[in-house]
Amino acid sequence: LACLYLVATPIGNLGDMTPRCIEVLKSVDLIAAEDTRHTKKLCHVFEIETPLTSYHEHNKDSKGDYIIELLSEGKNIALVSDAGLPCISDPGYEVVAAAIEAGYAVIPVPGANAALSALIASGLVPQPFLFYGFLNRVKSKKKKELEDLKYQPFTTIYYESPHRIKETLQAMLEVLGNRRIVIARELTKQYEEFVRGSIEEVLEIVDELRGEMVVIVEGSTEKKEETLWWQELDVVDHVEHYV
Ligand code: SAM
Repeated sequence: LACLYLVATPIGNLGDMTPRCIEVLKSVDLIAAEDTRHTKKLCHVFEIETPLTSYHEHNKDSKGDYIIELLSEGKNIALVSDAGLPCISDPGYEVVAAAIEAGYAVIPVPGANAALSALIASGLVPQPFLFYGFLNRVKSKKKKELEDLKYQPFTTIYYESPHRIKETLQAMLEVLGNRRIVIARELTKQYEEFVRGSIEEVLEIVDELRGEMVVIVEGSTEKKEETLWWQELDVVDHVEHYV
């Protein structure tokens, strides 16, 4: 039976391309890549000559159907994203679910990942952790998402772009309070850096931060005041009368 391989690619340092990832990419019939031009360069470095096709946010429905059709013909397919693990804040989830549904094996071929690399070196409690990925770009929606996360006690991992990091930290300060955070920047690359401190401290130097970054935020130590179910009802005055 044909397999769908989920293959990790480096997040900056080409040395993180594992021998197994190379072997799988060489052996499959087709590589479905988030950006074929980007993956073509990677394939060139590792002398991988397998044909490429695109699989991204905007063609994932039609391309997903095509991938399932190829699997049904007995073809092995590898899915890669531009960096790190497919499906982790990257395309892939839908075709994985479809392949499982259709009865094909889905095989992870692990390697670099920005979230876990940042977490293990952050110095914050590593488990339990919550991987959130990107917050919404719209300020009001971002705040709403943070409100929903406010009382959860797990160390939380966010991805963020350097253009939005200041606004995101300001929103976090406002909603979550002045927690301890770690920004892991340019992981595995020449200018890799960890910035550790309170949100207020990090905000003082945030304008200097460039490049790709992961934000790790300590969990809440505060408990949400418990709301009894009947306090949420419209009839609350009536009910209270009898308590
Ligand atoms: N699939 C990837 C993974 O497994 O880590 C993540 C892809 S997501 C579209 C890209 C985001 O991951 C960036 O905006 C940044 O937050 C984070 N990221 C990727 N590479 C990174 C690196 N070398 N250093 C720090 N963060 C990185």
